[in-house]
Amino acid sequence: MAQKIVAGNWKMNLNLNDAKALVQNVNQQNKREDVTVMMFPPALFVADVAAESNGIKVGTQNFYFEEKGAFTGEVAIDQIRSVGGEIALIGHSERRSIFGESDALLKQKVDAAVSAGFDFIFCCGEPLEIREAGTQEEYVKAQLEAALFHLPKEAVQDVVIAYEPVWAIGTGKTATSDQAEEMHAAIRSWIVDSYDQDTAEKVSILYGGSCNENNAKELFSCPNVDGGLIGGASLKADAFCAIIDSF
Ligand code: PEP
Repeated sequence: MAQKIVAGNWKMNLNLNDAKALVQNVNQQNKREDVTVMMFPPALFVADVAAESNGIKVGTQNFYFEEKGAFTGEVAIDQIRSVGGEIALIGHSERRSIFGESDALLKQKVDAAVSAGFDFIFCCGEPLEIREAGTQEEYVKAQLEAALFHLPKEAVQDVVIAYEPVWAIGTGKTATSDQAEEMHAAIRSWIVDSYDQDTAEKVSILYGGSCNENNAKELFSCPNVDGGLIGGASLKADAFCAIIDSF
C-alpha cells in the first residue's frame, strides 16, 4: 500500500526563527502517526528544522546531481544528508519554468538520487494552455517517461510522485477532485504498464496546487490521491495540521 503523505514546500519563505517556530508548532499539534509528514524548508534551514523534526521527514526543494566541485550556489546530496536532510524535491514546476530545468537535467538528478539511495518526490504537471487543449495526460506521461520511467522496478517502487497542475499552483484555483483523480489514476495505470500492479500500488501519488484545509478532505478521499504537496498552506501550523488531519 502507498504511504499517506502530507509534504510542505516552504519555497523561499520564512526566516530562521519562523522556520523553527513552524516545525515546533506542527510537532505540538500533529497527532497522526499514520500519515508521513515532510517539510521542505529553504536549504539554509534544513539543519535547524531537522534538529526539531521529531519524526517529520525534512529535505530540500532542490539539489545538484554532481557529488561535489565547482558548482557555485548548488548543494549536493551528501551535503544535505550531512545536516539531517533525508529527501528532496525534483522537478518542481518553478524549477522547470523559472530556472529552466529540462527533462534531461531532471533525469540526471533522479539517477544521482537513486544511486545515492536518497529519497525524492518527483513533480510533474501541465501548464494552463495544455489543460485548455485537453492534452494534459500526454504531457504528464511524457514528463514521467523522460525522467523517471527508465528506472528499474526496485527503484521506482520507492518513488513519490507529485502531480501539480501548474495552473493550480499558488493561484487559489484548485483542480477539482475529479480532475485530480483522473490524472492520478492515469499515472498509476502508466506505472502498471511500464512495471506492474504491485509496483504501482506502492508508489504514493500526491496532489499539489492550492490544496488547503478546506479542500484537502475531498481531494484525499479520491482513491488514487495518497496525499498532498502543499505550498502556501504549509506555512501556517494550524492549516498544515488541519490538512494532515483531513485523511
Ligand atoms: C507547490 O508549490 O508545490 C504548491 C502546491 O503550492 P501551493 O499549494 O501554494 O499552490
